[in-house]
Amino acid sequence: MHEAVDKILVSQEAIMKRCQELGEEISDDYRKKNTVPYVVALLKGSVPFLAELVKHIDLDIQFDFMDVSSYEGTESIGDIKINKDLDCSVKGLSILLVEDIVDTGRTLKEVTKLLKNKGAEDVKVVSLLDKPDRRTVEIEADYVGFEIPNEFVIGFGLDYDQKYRNLPFVGVLKREYYE
Ligand code: 5GP
Repeated sequence: MHEAVDKILVSQEAIMKRCQELGEEISDDYRKKNTVPYVVALLKGSVPFLAELVKHIDLDIQFDFMDVSSYEGTESIGDIKINKDLDCSVKGLSILLVEDIVDTGRTLKEVTKLLKNKGAEDVKVVSLLDKPDRRTVEIEADYVGFEIPNEFVIGFGLDYDQKYRNLPFVGVLKREYYE
């Protein structure tokens, strides 16, 4: 195990298995609706999850990336700044938004609102992880990989100070690294 990790919360094997289940569930749901989602992943944390998930989506999808950050320390908390926008217009599209983790829910709420304002027909969310105890705004992902307790996690895309995104599992960061 990596020296920064206190304990493994979700193993690589469990992530692989769950990505397959989610991919199959998503494929079935969209096939029933006769729709192909435009998959939008939020940089950078969702990249490993996206890469594993899309292998199991049995539809002719396209994917695209967005990078957003919140205006922390300003009055407009809750609003988001777009660092990298999508390549195409989303007007009339069914979006499947891919997130690494839903924490307070603010990012998801703002990005969903933004995509709808840009004319998206429908926005569904798939998140690898969910910390329901931390929610401050009312929003839920449509598909969740794993519910986890209120701990700061790293790995499989999730960083601390831009590091540890490449760990193949999700683990709890040792307290001494951030205290
Ligand atoms: P929210 O807007 O839901 O509060 O925050 C979502 C973002 O906060 C995630 O995309 C992620 O970047 C970050 N975040 C929330 N909890 C954790 C965590 O436990 N570990 C890491 N590395 N990032 C987190």
